[in-house]
Amino acid sequence: MSITQQEGSTLLKDLERIRKKTKISNKVLNGQLDQIITEIEEAKTNNDYSQLKDKLQVQYLLRKNEKPLTKIKQTNNDCYAYISKLGKNMDKVYKKNLQYGQEHIELDQNVLTELIKTHLLRDGEFEAYETLVKESGSVDSNFHQFFTEAQSIVKDLKEKKLDSAIQWAENRGKKSVNNLLYELLKQRVIQLVQTEGINVAINFMRNSASFQEQSQGRLYEICLITYSLLIWPNVENTKYFYLYDNERNWPRVLNLFLEVAAKSQNILTKSEIRTVFSAGCLAMPKLIKYNQITRNRSSEVLTNDIPIDIEIGKEYKYHSFFVCPVSREVTNSDNPPVLLKCGHVISKLSAHKMIANKQKFKCPTCPVETKGVDLPELIFI
Ligand SMILES: [Zn+2]
Repeated sequence: MSITQQEGSTLLKDLERIRKKTKISNKVLNGQLDQIITEIEEAKTNNDYSQLKDKLQVQYLLRKNEKPLTKIKQTNNDCYAYISKLGKNMDKVYKKNLQYGQEHIELDQNVLTELIKTHLLRDGEFEAYETLVKESGSVDSNFHQFFTEAQSIVKDLKEKKLDSAIQWAENRGKKSVNNLLYELLKQRVIQLVQTEGINVAINFMRNSASFQEQSQGRLYEICLITYSLLIWPNVENTKYFYLYDNERNWPRVLNLFLEVAAKSQNILTKSEIRTVFSAGCLAMPKLIKYNQITRNRSSEVLTNDIPIDIEIGKEYKYHSFFVCPVSREVTNSDNPPVLLKCGHVISKLSAHKMIANKQKFKCPTCPVETKGVDLPELIFI
């Protein structure tokens, strides 16, 4: 939603006024309480409670403008007046902008609950998650255990502790894609160089079975690490500096973990709710503008909504995925979906397997036969 600069600064001014008023109100409140406490203590010292009895009676406290409760009440009222004014001003600004976007929205409660549950787990808000499960009466999410583990690894990585992440990647063995285990072990070597010295790092490289295994086929990278040790710690302004660039490498390792972890569960790396919300925020100003224009035009335009293309950036582009009905595998660029003569679609590898040495093969869904292996590849957008 877009609000004008002027509207924005009015709201900010309201907030500033509330802040000042609250500060004054707190001061008055504390001052008045201090006064009462002083009087009580004085009475205690003098062992004379006769006057205090009168002073603490509500009637006395409220009697005149100068009396404690009246003063507190007054400043509180001032505060609430400003808060209510801010509320009204916000309604004025936001309702005006949102009134075009609120039509025809029907949300599936169950789907929404599941999305919020995953979102909370993903953010590590376990307490809020438990409350939602309880209040919505839904079952425990399949991802609960996964996110509990993932979050504790994320916490470790943020504190530059690699053990839990390395163990996770080792447990996944060969399934660990995208070089995660190697990147984590490399980061461990660099960390050892920086904290415990070259000898400890070299010993780790020699003795860690995982590192030895991951080094296979990465001779060039290992050479770079080893050469960098020769000139350590004077690596700045050399081509080896990238290895020791902590500001770049730690977030990179963390993101790589998040990516691989999400992939292991076949879920998106980023929260669906956050993505939809951000995409909505980016697209909303244009949609509102469009809606305002079309509303003022003839009724012809209004009856048929025209889809409009709004550019909101590459990171919000998602491709549909396709699961091969033969192999039950999700297709990718190495094994794309291919179109058969009859119009049915299977994965390229399945098509290759089915044709084997034959000239043609029968579609797994219908009786039509397809010839050859050079089948047209499909690209989903
Ligand atoms: Zn077919």
